[in-house]
Amino acid sequence: MANLRCALRIASSFQAPSSKCCVQFFSSGAGQTTEKNVPYEKTLKEESSPRGQGPTKPLPASADVVVVGGGSLGCQTVYHLAKMGVTNVILLERDRLTSGTTWHTAGLLWQLRPSDVEVELLAHTRNVVSRDLEQETGLHTGWIQNGGLFIASNKQRLDEYKRLMSLGKVYGIESYVLSPAETKDLYPLMNVDDLYGTLYVPKDGTMDPAGTCTTLTRAASALGALVIENCPVTGIEVKTDDLGVRRVAAVVTNAGTIETPCVVNCAGKHCAGVNVPLVAMHHAYVVTERIEGIQNMPNVRDHDASVYLRLQGDALSVGGYESNPIFWEEVSGDKFAFGLFDLDWDVFMQHIEGAINRVPVLEKTGIKSTVCGPESFTADHKPLMGEAPEVRGFFLGCGFNSAGMMLGGGCGKELAYWIIHGRPEKDMYSYDIRRFHHNLTGNNRWIRERSHESALPPSTRINPSPHLCIHRESF
Ligand SMILES: Cc1cc2nc3c(=O)[nH]c(=O)nc-3n(C[C@H](O)[C@H](O)[C@H](O)COP(=O)(O)OP(=O)(O)OC[C@H]3O[C@@H](n4cnc5c(N)ncnc54)[C@H](O)[C@@H]3O)c2cc1C
Repeated sequence: MANLRCALRIASSFQAPSSKCCVQFFSSGAGQTTEKNVPYEKTLKEESSPRGQGPTKPLPASADVVVVGGGSLGCQTVYHLAKMGVTNVILLERDRLTSGTTWHTAGLLWQLRPSDVEVELLAHTRNVVSRDLEQETGLHTGWIQNGGLFIASNKQRLDEYKRLMSLGKVYGIESYVLSPAETKDLYPLMNVDDLYGTLYVPKDGTMDPAGTCTTLTRAASALGALVIENCPVTGIEVKTDDLGVRRVAAVVTNAGTIETPCVVNCAGKHCAGVNVPLVAMHHAYVVTERIEGIQNMPNVRDHDASVYLRLQGDALSVGGYESNPIFWEEVSGDKFAFGLFDLDWDVFMQHIEGAINRVPVLEKTGIKSTVCGPESFTADHKPLMGEAPEVRGFFLGCGFNSAGMMLGGGCGKELAYWIIHGRPEKDMYSYDIRRFHHNLTGNNRWIRERSHESALPPSTRINPSPHLCIHRESF
């Protein structure tokens, strides 16, 4: 079995793998990586949900709202719509719930970010998965509260964490700035020699994608919502009213058409109709073999090294923002349910050094599996939400830049409120699709280049724009 140091050595040589221990983990280099076989697909998708069987429930003729896509955002949105009283609502999922990006997420939820609105969105997600759903359904969502630890390896970073701690106090979020010695007491396997300190947030944790989406849809169904799987949306009918305004009229599927004045696109690029300014790129983590003494440790985020270490039982998942992420050029839509790519080690290797530096035992720890999947990224690293200006009744809830689990609850609630009241409850301007002029949403080259740039860790950008610096300086 490969260990992390071995992978780093081979990848940095930029050669075909020469060491026996690493051969199985390498793809064909810097070009396109290939889709890989996923046992999950065989066990879960093919056995319990063979293709071609058609929708899991009959389609009604009409609905007040149709949500397209059964990932984190679709499930959160249908749940919040139902809770706010919109019970004639349908969720249509092309394959099975979670089969897009959500099923393989790392599921990390950090409560503190340098934005008051985002802190509120995250707090709501946490309340939903750690408290509300369990009370409403009697089911556990799979939420694990093992805490979160932000690493400061310079004074500026520690100052930033102190400000985060202050912001957290306003919202009642417990957090502590720890010295290196206190950090070592908390996380004995950590190298603290190069640390200025850490920020410890004991009530951070990890969401389980299947558990979260199942309980969300159970709760929504109990309130009257209809959740239909195996039902790809093939088109949106739009009509122009007497005032010349284009409005959503119906959702089209192979099994029939549902009349509706309101569609929510939680399916990303796949959904037919309006221009959705996002790109899909590969995003990855690796799961290690068992590590003695890692049990119950908090999740770790080292912003300067652009790496995270997520507790996975008695092992760790190691990931981060790639410095040269690979585009998913051929978004193969309906063929890709529960799909993954082969990991490109040349792209991933930057995380390994940072991970080994932080938790040195990783150097000798084997890699059990790699998880490299598609994720949506946008030009300014913020999601796309709200009503599309070109079609009334067409709402977006996509482009979550690798934060769609932790932002899902807060954003699902805001989307539901937006649909019902015509505006969100919070100041959601930085997520509102209308922040982009339509000249930009139709400019594929601009979308592609800026989305790629905005996904990079700040240190690897050439001439980063001031706007990007502000919101991605650390997160
Ligand atoms: C490796 C990795 C690690 C990550 N780690 C984290 C993390 O730690 N924390 C975090 O918050 N986020 C993380 N993310 C990001 C997070 O997982 C995503 O942002 C989130 O899952 C996106 O959810 P979604 O509902 O927007 O999209 P998806 O989960 O992709 O859902 C879209 C759904 O729409 C369906 N669909 C598509 N087309 C149609 C159609 N025509 N008709 C009907 N249905 C359709 C698809 O089948 C799919 O189920 C990670 C992502 C990756 C790849």
